[in-house]
Amino acid sequence: MDKLPKDPAVDHPQEVHQSLDPDDWSTFRQQSHRMLDDMLDFVEHLRERPVWQPIPQRSRAQFQMTLPQQGQSLESVHQIFMQDVLPYGPGNSHPGFMGWVQGGGTPVGMLAEMLAAGLNANVGGRDQMPVEVERQIVRWMRELFGFPETASGVFVTGTSMANLMAVLVARTVALGKSVRQQGLRESATQLTAYTSVEAHGCVAQAMDLAGFGTAALRRIPGNDLFQMDAQALEAAIEADRAAGFQPFFIAGTAGSVDVGAIDPLNDIADIAARHQCWFHVDGAFGALGMMSPKIAPLLQGIQRADSIAFDFHKWGQVQYDAGFLLVRDANQHMDAFAAPVAYLRRETRGLAGGSPWPCDFGPDLSRGFRALKTWFTLQVYGAEKLGNIISQTCDLAQYLMQQIAQHPSLELLAPVALNVVCFRYLGDPSDKSSLCNLDDLNRDIVADLHESGVAVPSTTTVRGQLAIRVAIVNHRTNRDNIDAMLNAVMALGKTRCNTAME
Ligand SMILES: *Cc1c(COP(=O)(O)O)cnc(C)c1O
Repeated sequence: MDKLPKDPAVDHPQEVHQSLDPDDWSTFRQQSHRMLDDMLDFVEHLRERPVWQPIPQRSRAQFQMTLPQQGQSLESVHQIFMQDVLPYGPGNSHPGFMGWVQGGGTPVGMLAEMLAAGLNANVGGRDQMPVEVERQIVRWMRELFGFPETASGVFVTGTSMANLMAVLVARTVALGKSVRQQGLRESATQLTAYTSVEAHGCVAQAMDLAGFGTAALRRIPGNDLFQMDAQALEAAIEADRAAGFQPFFIAGTAGSVDVGAIDPLNDIADIAARHQCWFHVDGAFGALGMMSPKIAPLLQGIQRADSIAFDFHKWGQVQYDAGFLLVRDANQHMDAFAAPVAYLRRETRGLAGGSPWPCDFGPDLSRGFRALKTWFTLQVYGAEKLGNIISQTCDLAQYLMQQIAQHPSLELLAPVALNVVCFRYLGDPSDKSSLCNLDDLNRDIVADLHESGVAVPSTTTVRGQLAIRVAIVNHRTNRDNIDAMLNAVMALGKTRCNTAME
């Protein structure tokens, strides 16, 4: 037992040491099992719940309390979670969730998260097996994307962070390591980057955060299939060169957020090589399509990238969060982030061994064990099954597209490349006097749909028109969920148009 030396000036209680472990492990164990069972019940019976429901005021109020000075029992805090948090989540685990691009998670990933939390490893570095688990994922991703042995990889929160890091690696390659001391002022020419108009907003944000400014990002128009126009890309690079700019970074998209388009990656790789630009792929959800023999051919050229950003938490079905950056050349990757500091000195033996460390490949020092849930997911399900799930979501998108084609009151707004379908409700085509503004109508239908609890698509704007956007990512989503969503869209749309006419 720890005992502090007696200090006569302070009135110490007899035993001053306290820990946060339970006094009674057997009661705690019973409570733990109840908590595990509650979550297993939740996942097993997801389908019986609404996808989403509005948060009652009572539940919000539960989280506007003052800082608790005294604790309460784990059991009672768990009850608050069950009553006020669990029923009012975002719904992305539910098969009726089709909004934005979000994965459903798996029961296996959930258990792996518990194991990771129990171990409580700080995976910033040092000679420990959790770092080896992360390195196993790096090796697997090299294999999946045909990257060389010299490639490095690192877990991050998500693709937004991974894209930012890719810009920083490309910057250091373009300007040399001195840019890390001198900043951008030192460079004589202004660096410019290129991406498609369809690229995710975080690519522009990466240019902003990296200090280039979003104006240094050229947005290249797309073709009819919403893919970057490679000729326009090369023309823009040549024009910038002629005007004295220094083109340094091209971000192709593999699975665009609005419509799921895949840029012509091979053409972009050729152009990047011709103009000495870094070729990055934002494959946030699409890149893991490499696990599906049906989708992989569409991603041809991705193996030529200098870096790939993607998320295991989308099509990979791993629990949030699990973003990843893969870089072809580990030395270039480290040049952008590694920093020698005394308190992180590396040794050849002991816990301070095992260099390089994950913290040499990104801005995070302390970081959790994201690799474990990813490793469990890949080990338990295998790449083939995960790939089949990915194809299944694309097949469902084709099914939805066919259903839309059969209903005169529905209109498809973009070609369906992968798992994303954009469409809208047109009102009753036989009723020419319909007064509905279609953008307002479809926005309302989506909000009504969310509140109905039946399905959760999101919205976007496609060529100036508001679209109901269905992104099928969740492994649980099936045809019944698609039918229920579509029937609800038509029923809610009809009701809205009728009320508008009255
Ligand atoms: C989701 C997504 C992102 C952002 O990824 P996060 O993991 O949410 O940070 C970037 N690009 C594309 C194409 C996406 O679909």
